[in-house]
Amino acid sequence: MNYVVCIPDGCADEPLAELGGRTPLEAAELPNFQALAARGDVGRAAVIPDGMPPGSDVGNMAIFGYDPTRFHTGRAPIEAAALGLELRPDQVAYRCNLVTVGDDGTMVDFAGGHPSTDEAAEVILALDAALGGDGVSFHPGVQYRHIMVAPEGWIDAGCTPPHDLTDKPAVWPTGPAAPHLQRLMDASRSIVGPSVLGANQIWLWGQGFQPQMPSFQETYGLDAALVTAVDLVRGLGVLTGIEVVELETATGWYDTDYEGKRDCALDALADGADLFIIHVEASDEAGHAGDVEEKVRALENWDRRILADLIPGLDRLGPWRLLLLPDHATPLALRTHTSDPVPYLLVDSERPGPGGVYTESGVADLPIVPGHELMSRLVSIR
Ligand SMILES: [Zn+2]
Repeated sequence: MNYVVCIPDGCADEPLAELGGRTPLEAAELPNFQALAARGDVGRAAVIPDGMPPGSDVGNMAIFGYDPTRFHTGRAPIEAAALGLELRPDQVAYRCNLVTVGDDGTMVDFAGGHPSTDEAAEVILALDAALGGDGVSFHPGVQYRHIMVAPEGWIDAGCTPPHDLTDKPAVWPTGPAAPHLQRLMDASRSIVGPSVLGANQIWLWGQGFQPQMPSFQETYGLDAALVTAVDLVRGLGVLTGIEVVELETATGWYDTDYEGKRDCALDALADGADLFIIHVEASDEAGHAGDVEEKVRALENWDRRILADLIPGLDRLGPWRLLLLPDHATPLALRTHTSDPVPYLLVDSERPGPGGVYTESGVADLPIVPGHELMSRLVSIR
């Protein structure tokens, strides 16, 4: 049996006037999604447990089959794992954004003018030289997204994600560790400000200890691999021993290589992997941008450029099961994530399900299942 998990990031949405009162899933032409739904089983999944932030870290952890209420410690340690950092138990990881804060204290740009990875790395290394030491170190990541490692005593702070503050007054850290964070954020201005970057300081948030996740192989008895362009998803792979397949043409943007991701899945399964996770970020980015057309196109790309040939490819390899769902909704009207349950689709090539329609309204009356339980349902022998 081969297993495939498809994650169109943030694809769930709400009805939109621009789409004649339909959601992107309803408005897009998705013959392959709907053919799968007709032969399988659809439902509603709570990928974001009650009271947890609706982040991709939480939602994808649930889809990977790990209960976020047990295993999630924060976003930064997952991204730290993606960078190859192993935290000791006495270390805490913080996400370190390069940001632009206006003279009046407004968060002008949570992405610090989108610096290049190379230019940003130089600044992060300069920060490490100037402000590192005594258990504090700075580690370059991608573009504006970096990591700070700090002593365990720095865990206790209330930090606001900078993307929630755009065009609003910056909300500074609170709690016992706040003075440490404030000191570094203030001191970073003299290094980031004069640099070539559009950013003028760092922003520390998303902290946590390294999560203690049992391996996927140990938990589900299957060898798994994944493809993604996103550090959070890559980090979850590292933390659970799921092989991360490199695809250079995966961009994390609208122009990503859909066919390349499909072929990664078919090749890995043909080479002996049992389960493959395909993650595509484009639908979430379109949601954040409020770009209706791109969100519809991202779904149609899944249909035509992944599913259309993935299914015959799987058929050639033998019996298969497929699970498809997003890690959260990113409604175009809100341009941010929500905690609403999302539609899921589960198909077994050999055993027809009751059939259904894979849209938000198609599953609206169905019971809600915890998102992290779907992995067991996918891989269990029925
Ligand atoms: Zn997401």
